[in-house]
Amino acid sequence: MDKRPSIRPRAGDALIAVDVQNDFLPGGSLAVTGGDEVVPVLNEYIAAFRRDGLPIYATRDWHPVDHCSFQAAGGAWPPHCIARSPGAKFAPDLALPEETTVISKATTSGKDAYSGFEDTELARDLHHTGIRRVFIGGLATDYCVLGTVNDALAAGFEVFVLEDAVRAVNVEPDDGSKALTSMRHHGAALIRREMLAA
Ligand SMILES: [Zn+2]
Repeated sequence: MDKRPSIRPRAGDALIAVDVQNDFLPGGSLAVTGGDEVVPVLNEYIAAFRRDGLPIYATRDWHPVDHCSFQAAGGAWPPHCIARSPGAKFAPDLALPEETTVISKATTSGKDAYSGFEDTELARDLHHTGIRRVFIGGLATDYCVLGTVNDALAAGFEVFVLEDAVRAVNVEPDDGSKALTSMRHHGAALIRREMLAA
């Protein structure tokens, strides 16, 4: 008997695209190397979920101009994803359907949030929609994907990380691979798109 869980998307599954925003793509103010490479891969996952009528979520950093994560305010990062600015827009080629549920996070100046669950309606909305398994990809592996995956696990969801649709900041060269290892140790499964059709 094959005891692997089925990863064919089914009722009760949701796709979560984390922070696929212009400022995190090459040319953006906080560019992740290869960040643009997740877009066509995520589009394949989006197409698969749409085909089955399954819900799609997209989180976004949505900061005020004086956000505490910015260096001018003593934070670690250059200004990025300022609400309503071009840098905060989703990647133009990301094929999010109109019915995507958009989750804005870190929207007040005094508090940062790497996880899409932090101070948002995401957990409540997923539970309300009857979601039990979440498929998470996007940017960046070692920050907002990691935070979102950990919170999804803590909230009781079964979590699949789209290993081929994430990229890392890598402040230290192996931050991304360490983050993936940590997610697996905490109970997430790493998958690639060719495994969806199995
Ligand atoms: Zn941010």
